[in-house]
Formats: sequence, structure tokens, C-alpha cells
Amino acid sequence: MTDRKAQLAANLARVEDRIAAACAAAGRPRDEVTLIVVTKTYPASDVRFLAELGVTQVAENRDQEAAQKAADCTEAGLTWHFVGQLQTNKARSVVRYADFVHSVDRSRLVSALSDAAVRTGREVGCLVQVALDAPSGSVGSRGGAAPEDVAELADAVAAADGLRIEGVMTVAPLTGRYAGEPRAAFDRMREIASALRETHPAATMVSAGMSSDLEHAVAAGATHVRVGTAVLGVRPGLR
Ligand SMILES: *Cc1c(COP(=O)(O)O)cnc(C)c1O
Repeated sequence: MTDRKAQLAANLARVEDRIAAACAAAGRPRDEVTLIVVTKTYPASDVRFLAELGVTQVAENRDQEAAQKAADCTEAGLTWHFVGQLQTNKARSVVRYADFVHSVDRSRLVSALSDAAVRTGREVGCLVQVALDAPSGSVGSRGGAAPEDVAELADAVAAADGLRIEGVMTVAPLTGRYAGEPRAAFDRMREIASALRETHPAATMVSAGMSSDLEHAVAAGATHVRVGTAVLGVRPGLR
């Protein structure tokens, strides 16, 4: 094994231990939580090592980088998640490789993704990104729809050709009333997710929790944690 692959294996084992411990503490079976490794800024060679180490789900947040990496890793048979803020003019590119888009936060993006999916002949799983501190009608500073706007966006996704509504995604806010309160933020997220399941029972994905707060997210019912730094290392430039 190369040094890098051994390092990734050790990091993955530590993250796996954390997820297992968080599930145990929450009284949840380990298989209720899926690890998505966020590979942004790291090379395709790392993605291939991760696949060899048993990772099946990876995420990226910039289309240009993601498109190239996905093309370089087709053999690995990975599921690709797009988790970054997305401009409508990138929808055509994203639907070519992304199996899931976690950052659906406005109706124009729903239309753009739907058109792109239909033209490409692909079906894309969509999660509505929730900005817990955004006022109704606005988009959060790191993307995301206001909690009040989630139901309408989910309905739009469900009605759109080529898209499925799969659930909700959030990032714990750095400002506002949830700043420094990831557990409270994720508890609020759990309420939003369960309200959504009343109208869309198949929308079971709750994408929440990153390297620093995955335990809180698992405690609050997250089904998918998105972990970058704890697996790959601190990113230069910190994005
Ligand atoms: C980068 C990123 C992550 C991973 O963050 P880490 O702190 O490196 O684990 C998760 N979600 C989104 C949306 C991201 O952009």
C-alpha cells in the first residue's frame, strides 16, 4: 500500500469508529447512516484509493472539478453527490455525473436540473438544501432555502420530469441563532425532514453533519454524513 493509501485507510477507520460510536450512543443501527466522503480539492488518485478501500459514495462542490474527477474515476463505480452552490448554467454538466444533488434551493434551479436531466436521459435524486437561518423567500449565505420554503420546493422537484425528491440537506449555520449550536440546528432539521415525509414519504434522506459535527447530526437522525477533512486532511485554502 502506498503511504497515501495507508493514511486514507487509517483516517477512514477513525471516521468509521466515530460514526459507529455515534449510532450506538443514539440507539441507532449502524446501517442507518451512510458515509459520503467529500473529495473536493483532492486528486482523482485519492478518489480511486478511497474506492479501493470500500468507499462507495463521494461528493464534490464545484462542477468543473467534479466533472473532471468523475470522468477520471469512471472505473471505480462510485455514486457521486453534488453538494455545492449551483448556478443554473451548470445544470447540464452536473446531471451527467451526479446521482444526487444536495443543494437544490430555488425553483429556477429545479427547472434547470429537470430540463438537463430529461435531455441527458438521466434521473437525478434531489435534496432540498435548508438554510436554517434564512428568512422566507431568500437564499442563505452558503446557499439553501428558508425552512418555510422547503415544502414548495420539494413539491416542485416531485412534479419535475427527470428528478426525484429524496430528502433534505443542511450545513450547521455559523451565524444567527444556531451559531455554535449544531445539535439544536440538527434537531430543527429533523423536524423539517419529518414534516417533508408527511407529503413525500419516499424523501427519507437527511444529509447533515461534517467532520466537526457528525456526532450531533447522527444523534439528530441524519441518514447521510458528508465528511471531507477527517478523511482526506485539511484542505489548503479551506473550502
Ligand atoms: C466541504 C463540505 C463538507 C465537508 O466538510 P469537512 O468539514 O471537510 O468534513 C460537507 N458538506 C459540504 C456542503 C461541503 O461543502
